[in-house]
Amino acid sequence: MNILPQYSLLEFNTLAVTAVAEYFAQVSSDQDIVECLEFSKKNKLAVKVLGGGSNVVMSKFIPGLVVQFCAQDCNVIKETEQSVVVRVEAGFNWHDFVLYCLSQNWYGIENLAYIPGHVGAAPVQNIGAYGVEVKDCIQAVNGVYLESGQDFTLLAHECDFAYRESCFKQALDGKVLITSVEFLLSKTPDVQVSYAPLNQMSAEKGLPTPGELAQWVVDVRQAKLPDPKVLPNAGSFFKNPVVSIVEFNKLIERFPSMPNYPQKNGVKLPAGWLIDQLGYKGKAFGPVSVHKLQALVLINQGGAGKDVISAANQICKAVQERYGLVLEQEPRIFN
Ligand code: FAD
Ligand code: NAP
Repeated sequence: MNILPQYSLLEFNTLAVTAVAEYFAQVSSDQDIVECLEFSKKNKLAVKVLGGGSNVVMSKFIPGLVVQFCAQDCNVIKETEQSVVVRVEAGFNWHDFVLYCLSQNWYGIENLAYIPGHVGAAPVQNIGAYGVEVKDCIQAVNGVYLESGQDFTLLAHECDFAYRESCFKQALDGKVLITSVEFLLSKTPDVQVSYAPLNQMSAEKGLPTPGELAQWVVDVRQAKLPDPKVLPNAGSFFKNPVVSIVEFNKLIERFPSMPNYPQKNGVKLPAGWLIDQLGYKGKAFGPVSVHKLQALVLINQGGAGKDVISAANQICKAVQERYGLVLEQEPRIFN
């Protein structure tokens, strides 16, 4: 393992922001982690953990030691006739893991196909798509506390998972390196096609197998979402707000065509629709533009840095003025 000074992270963030880490290291063993923590203590450097860089907005200069965990082992640790528990190291590419599970006839995460990033980041924001959240298949998360170097294991119920949330974005934010995740997967298919595009396809073609469903998800996503390699982006830039029934009733009176999704704790409103209604699809804010097919996605048209946050702030302000709702940013500030 090498600890590299003044290292460009341009290739390590899907928004393609020109960023330089004071130090950068790719680690893949316990020994590498110990060395990095010793180096950071000796040089009084903060340690910052990066996965695939698909959910971060980087600053131009990132002080401290940026660590990317790259190990990719995947082992079955328990198996019954009905299910399997598989421990996957954090550096495994998420979509490759979805495909690997399908090849083994292990089910539960097929709706999460084609989400960029690494397995280690999946619990951080409890990744979700098409009505499935990863928390429902996570049994435990293993890692290391950056301050003490101590190992930890958190069972799923200890991770405070919620809608695009977990303790790794709250109490443990910046304090841990997740080294592996344990998934409990079923051997019995149970395909979830409640979201409109999947529902329509199953009405036309019949209920899919899990493998077919994953392919449908890939097809829908490829048709609608920009490929970060072509149009650099960090996915949905804002979370969908969840409002109280009282607030919802007031809003729907003013905006009768507003799509809405009742939840246990209120009503979820699609932030993309709110932004779209402002006429922002395709709109440019300097070098940042709103994607023309999905208003939730901000594109770096080239050379954007602070402009990303400035564009996001302008969009938030406009949404607040029109609807009285405060949008919450989804990608993490990495500085
Ligand atoms: P990074 O962006 O590198 O990191 C994200 C955060 O997690 C950072 O705070 C980082 O410090 C922390 N982190 C990363 N790895 C570790 C680790 N090993 N230990 C501790 N902390 C860690 N998200 C969804 O939920 N659903 C989607 O459908 C979805 N679609 C997307 C589509 C596109 C085109 C893009 C660009 C993004 C999309 N995302 C989606 C967001 C993103 O892909 C996910 O949040 C993903 O899990 C981030 O993984 P990453 O490895 O790139 O994490
Ligand atoms: P979409 O189908 O245009 O729907 C817009 C929003 O409405 C979604 O954000 C979704 O919320 C919500 N929604 C739609 N149908 C719903 C239903 N039946 N029940 C409850 N909520 C419903 O969304 P999209 O942009 O094409 O994305 C499709 C899926 O991929 C979504 O689940 C989305 O979260 C996920 N995705 C996430 C990211 C990211 O970076 N986080 C990026 C791209 C896609 P939810 O977001 O809560 O599902």
